[in-house]
This record gives sequence, C-alpha cells and structure tokens, in this order.
Amino acid sequence: MTTSRCEAFHSHLAKFVNLRICFTDFVEQFQRCLSYFCFREIEADFDSDYGVVTLQSGLHSLERSASKVFTKTIFHMFRCMLIRAPTVMRVRECHETSLYSIYSVLKYCDCGSICHVCYCPSTFEFKCSCLRMESFGLPCDHIVTLLVELDFSEIPKCLVLDWWKKKCKKVYSWKICR
Ligand SMILES: [Zn+2]
Repeated sequence: MTTSRCEAFHSHLAKFVNLRICFTDFVEQFQRCLSYFCFREIEADFDSDYGVVTLQSGLHSLERSASKVFTKTIFHMFRCMLIRAPTVMRVRECHETSLYSIYSVLKYCDCGSICHVCYCPSTFEFKCSCLRMESFGLPCDHIVTLLVELDFSEIPKCLVLDWWKKKCKKVYSWKICR
C-alpha cells in the first residue's frame, strides 16, 4: 500500500513539475500541488457531510447505517461489497465456543476458498482469517456476508476505523485543541 501511495503521489506531482524547471519554480509548483490536494480534501469532506445518499442495496438498514458513519468514498466501497457479498458468499457452518462463534464462509460453488470469521456476541467484534480488515481497514466480503446472515441492522463500531469516519477530523481537531 505504501508503494502504491508513493506512485499515486508521484503521478499527481508529475502533473505540476517536470525535470527542466529550476528550483524556485519547483517550490512554487509544489505549493500549487499541495493547494490542489487541500482543495480536493475540502471538496471530499463537503461531499461527505452534505447530500442525501440514495440507497441501492436491498439491505437498507445496514446501508443507511454505513452511510451515516463512513466518508462518502469509503461508503461507496462498502456499498459495493454489501450488494455483492451476500449474493456470492455462503455461510456454511458454525462452531460455537463459550466466548466466540466461528463461522465458515465460502464463495458460491468454490469450496476451496473457505475463510473463518470469528464473532464475539458480547462485544460485537468480528475477525476474519483473510485479515482484510486489519490490512485495509474495511470489512471483507466474509464479514459483510455474516452481518447479513446474522440480521445486523447497523454496522458494528469495531468495523468502522476512526480514519474512515465522517467525524474523524472534528474528533481529532477537538482532541488536539484540548
Ligand atoms: Zn475475510
């Protein structure tokens, strides 16, 4: 992810600077590039805070709940999963322990790619063996499938990381001020 982030930044920067410009021009152009990024961020924040989301999945409660907490960009990614996952994934079996329930989730007609989702009913925590949540910060198809299977009407807090929240900046700027 770090490499792809650097490459994305280089590609954006290349729109503003080239090899032939002198150092003072570089600084000026770099400043323009940063201003452009700031503008894009403000635009994205505005987009997230205003406007009404049109619900597209058949799982309105879960989709509405996600639209209230996620930024618009992340919400769109989550909604794609919400529409796709329950149609292509199946919850095959459940193994209960005293604290957790471990579900086997697999793709439709593909018994080779089983993932195990661990769910703790007392804390509403989910962990999947694919570790997508831990690496990317968004719940995977397996967890989304299980949310639907278990009739969740709201997205659990443990599946919403602070930096994908709409209110993230307000919360952190408030903490910094204190
Ligand atoms: Zn998974």
